[in-house]
Amino acid sequence: MSTKYVLGIDIGGTETKIGVVKYDTSTKSYALQECFILTTVKGNVGLTIENIRRTVNEICSRYGKLTHCGVGVAALINFRDGVVVNGPNLGWVNINLRSKLEQELKLNVIIDNDANLSTLAIYHHEVKKKYKKVDSMVCLTLGTGIGGGIILNGDLFHGNPYSAAELGHITMNIDGGICGCGNTGCIERYVGARWFIAEIIKELKIDKPKTVIYELVENNLNNLTPKILYLAAEKGDKYALVQWQRYGKLLGIGISTLVNIFSPEVIAFTGGVSLAHKYFLPYLKKEVERRVWPVLRKKNNPSPLIKDLKYHIAAGQNYGVLGAGILAVRTFL
Ligand SMILES: [Zn+2]
Repeated sequence: MSTKYVLGIDIGGTETKIGVVKYDTSTKSYALQECFILTTVKGNVGLTIENIRRTVNEICSRYGKLTHCGVGVAALINFRDGVVVNGPNLGWVNINLRSKLEQELKLNVIIDNDANLSTLAIYHHEVKKKYKKVDSMVCLTLGTGIGGGIILNGDLFHGNPYSAAELGHITMNIDGGICGCGNTGCIERYVGARWFIAEIIKELKIDKPKTVIYELVENNLNNLTPKILYLAAEKGDKYALVQWQRYGKLLGIGISTLVNIFSPEVIAFTGGVSLAHKYFLPYLKKEVERRVWPVLRKKNNPSPLIKDLKYHIAAGQNYGVLGAGILAVRTFL
């Protein structure tokens, strides 16, 4: 048995997580050893890198010199060139992050989008263990926005120019509102938590339906979050249940498009909003069954194209860091 260690870094809009990832070459399994959390300095690449360098030096003083590092960034990434093309939450535009980190850290560095790396970690750490022979998977990160990743033939799909998979920007409505990406009517504009919750607040203010939400937010609707909407559903609140039903239906419309394109074996979900899966997943599945080749349906059974499709809710945490480590192992070792 041989054990190797690499660094995994996950740069998000508020926090940067740095971890040591252990790779067991005999079982080909990965494990996150420990994880350090720093504050991301918004708009200041230099200071963020300086903070990373200090933590990496501290880690290397304990583990010995680590020479390979994977980095996930919450941004649109050019995977081939290691460039952060646009990271609205970081205030970074066209930053050659790979070459900057290689210079500062004196390590081999590989960079990818954070949702891609979560996808890679969920695939290796959960899905492959649970279902064994799976080599295609689509993963959605359900949070403030909608991130995505695609596994094809057992590896991440990057497309051309290497920036796949921005699944949150599938168009849902030709006349929809403006999305953060500049397009209109993207799925993120409907089921990104920011927009989904804003729509509910608007309705609560105008129609004033009966719900426990007012009580849960202490009469300040600005306090409404997906977690609170989930807690309302837990109390059996009809209004909250209908909202999760709507969420499932909308997300199901987007997923039926993904199923038609990729025909994956597994659809995986991660991110804070996936906590509420028991309230939206049944409606999501129903919508996918309704939309994927209904002409092939017999009686009430779904089309044979999706009869073996599996839905998986990721259970673990810090998958951005673990996935960054896995990418480093797969690239350099
Ligand atoms: Zn968009």
